[in-house]
Amino acid sequence: MSLPAPGNASADIGVTGMGVMGSNLARNLARNGHRVAIHNRSVERTEQVMAAHGAQARFLPTTSMEEFVACLERPRVALVMVQAGQATDDVIDDLASRMEPGDIIVDCGNSLFTDTRRREARLREQGLHFVGCGVSGGEEGALWGPSIMPGGSQESYDRLGPMFEKIAAKVDGEPCCTRIGADGAGHFVKMVHNGIEYADMQVIGEAYHLLRSALGLEPAAIADVFAQWNSGELDSYLLEITVEVLRQVDPRTGRPLVDVILDAAGQKGTGVWTTQVALDLGVPVTGIAEATFARALSSSLPQRVAAQTFAAGSRSWRVTDADTFIEDVRQALYASKLIAYSQGLGEIRAAALEYGWEIDLAALARIWRGGCIIRARFLGEIARACDTDPDLPLLLADDFFATRVAAALPSWRRVVSDAALHGVPTPVFSSSLAYYDGIRTSRLPACLIQGQRDFFGAHTYRRIDDEGTFHTRWAEPGRPEVKA
Ligand code: NAP
Repeated sequence: MSLPAPGNASADIGVTGMGVMGSNLARNLARNGHRVAIHNRSVERTEQVMAAHGAQARFLPTTSMEEFVACLERPRVALVMVQAGQATDDVIDDLASRMEPGDIIVDCGNSLFTDTRRREARLREQGLHFVGCGVSGGEEGALWGPSIMPGGSQESYDRLGPMFEKIAAKVDGEPCCTRIGADGAGHFVKMVHNGIEYADMQVIGEAYHLLRSALGLEPAAIADVFAQWNSGELDSYLLEITVEVLRQVDPRTGRPLVDVILDAAGQKGTGVWTTQVALDLGVPVTGIAEATFARALSSSLPQRVAAQTFAAGSRSWRVTDADTFIEDVRQALYASKLIAYSQGLGEIRAAALEYGWEIDLAALARIWRGGCIIRARFLGEIARACDTDPDLPLLLADDFFATRVAAALPSWRRVVSDAALHGVPTPVFSSSLAYYDGIRTSRLPACLIQGQRDFFGAHTYRRIDDEGTFHTRWAEPGRPEVKA
């Protein structure tokens, strides 16, 4: 099939990269009344999109980057939806060499925010606007309404905002799209969104594992439990799809599909990034980190084979009061999930300080209520908490959440300790509880660590009863203390 010539027609917006996400975003834009220029490195993919959807969508297919840029209305807006990394750099460079000051390039892929900052600075020198834009919701979201997290200048948002808000998911009539902040802010919050997603998936996995181990429930029965949970405060997209996965029967064997899926979880790296960046910022995101490591552990197949002979050192587990246990697990799930969100928002708050972004956390929580993978009922409550006190240092300290977690605590402790006694791994349930206990403890053993650091490395310490920093001369008689 040959492509129709674009002629003199002009497009409001263009999308380059007709993969799964790019083609669906382009279709969403077209369905919402935009004339969309489309482009792909290999022309065949553009032809396929035209053959499948050209009749319904106002597409302007193009066969070269030159043609693509030429048919965009000024100031031009070009969305890039290709693999993160070098491919994104290549496409941006190609576009930038053909654009004029005032034009806007939007990277909608999952780019690392530091790459976005670098690209934005370079393109700004050229007078171009560069927008790093997080898009969440997978292929269905891209087509029917994603959650959109654009960074970049206010000027670029003035042009992009109306288009993006139109194609975004809506919750209570509000679009799930807001300008996040300058340069890499959009990609930063998308990265943390994905990190939270890792933790959220892992805690659901741990709840499943506990119900199976302690009660011997079959996947379909666990699906029923989760479906019930999903009708209350734990209502979320991830729990909803978990019910579907657990109910799926493998047509080949007749067994629950989950029982024939290899238990080695994959990843594309955003959980790793969220953890690495948190380490750089010195922010504890233990839930996300443990969830990321749990995937790595599950995929450590030779090591797992080598460990199969290890003694469990525990009794077999059969809980008799099923109702109480199920409620305990539900409480532990709620609390651990909340910790992941609280930690993720903490990472965003720290990055905003570091990079000078003014991120409205309440607005962010609101745009995560729909369209994206972590959409969940309690994001409404998180938005309310951030609205009430925009300077809240810790989400968990909000009155509502503090009370809610306190109510979950006895159950949470029972679940974590029983799991440990019976040898069932609960890395995020238990590390989240350790975080909760750590953050609420008035005096931590960090005082001893400071003493150790001062002993071997003269790293100094601060005192609780005096200003300044001090060093103890450990090797001298009497070990005198000096002001450092
Ligand atoms: P995909 O279906 O694999 O498509 C990749 C696209 O990138 C193709 O159009 C491909 O063109 C193009 N491409 C690759 N290397 C290129 C290069 N060097 N120069 C020019 N074009 C190149 O990918 P996708 O799932 O749509 O994902 C695209 C981006 O969205 C990624 O950054 C991904 O992380 C992000 N994302 C994905 C999801 C999701 O659920 N899939 C969700 C949010 C964000 P050819 O056809 O010529 O190979």
